[in-house]
Amino acid sequence: MNYQPDNVFQGILLKKTIFRETSLICDILTPQAGKIKILAKGVRNPKNSCYGTLQVLAELEFVTHRNKSSEWHILKTADLKQTFEADNLETTVMLQAGAELFSQMVIPELEAGNYFRLLKNYLDYSQKVSKNSIALFWRLLLRVFELNGIAPDFKHCLVCGKESSIMGGYHLIKQGFICPQCEQQALPQMIEYLSAESRILLCELPAIGNNLQNRNISQDSASQLTRVFITHLNLHFNDHFNLKSLKLLPY
Ligand SMILES: [Zn+2]
Repeated sequence: MNYQPDNVFQGILLKKTIFRETSLICDILTPQAGKIKILAKGVRNPKNSCYGTLQVLAELEFVTHRNKSSEWHILKTADLKQTFEADNLETTVMLQAGAELFSQMVIPELEAGNYFRLLKNYLDYSQKVSKNSIALFWRLLLRVFELNGIAPDFKHCLVCGKESSIMGGYHLIKQGFICPQCEQQALPQMIEYLSAESRILLCELPAIGNNLQNRNISQDSASQLTRVFITHLNLHFNDHFNLKSLKLLPY
């Protein structure tokens, strides 16, 4: 037999690429098998039963078959369970940045379930907030850092090791936060100095999701902390991540 039996998956679509006249190639995160690549033949033809279903961040239940000798899954059917959208620019960008982050990330098959739940929680939560959704993206990045063993310490200085109630800047060579005292002695070129607001946000970050509606995050701080976290990510992953959607933010 050339084909393996049909596979039934649930998944979230991370990326789609146009292929030939009417087809798509899709990267989908599944809790069972990690990220898989599927060829969806003819789905850009309006008469196809899956027409319009395969959108980025669509949550799907789908069936594929696969030639034993190929890595590729061929899509047979797909049912749309849910889509995740937003009515404001910031949340829209955050959703797309989440999809880009997961599509560019290496996800070990053994941890696929953890990554799937992380993304699903992020998407579910995004539907509940209408303000400051950038902070949800920071929390998502922190969870990704934890899963990869690169979570920055927000309570202890990376240089002197002392506990500090408020952190100074981000040290680009040591790749972590340092206390205000050590910050004064470090070479300025090695530090991203944080604004007073960014420092407070950093302290509150682990629990910030509880109070998003009642606060104002300035554009300067939103921009600065996003830059620091993406820098932290790329310092550990060799500049691997390029989240283009973040460029659509007004700051
Ligand atoms: Zn220190």
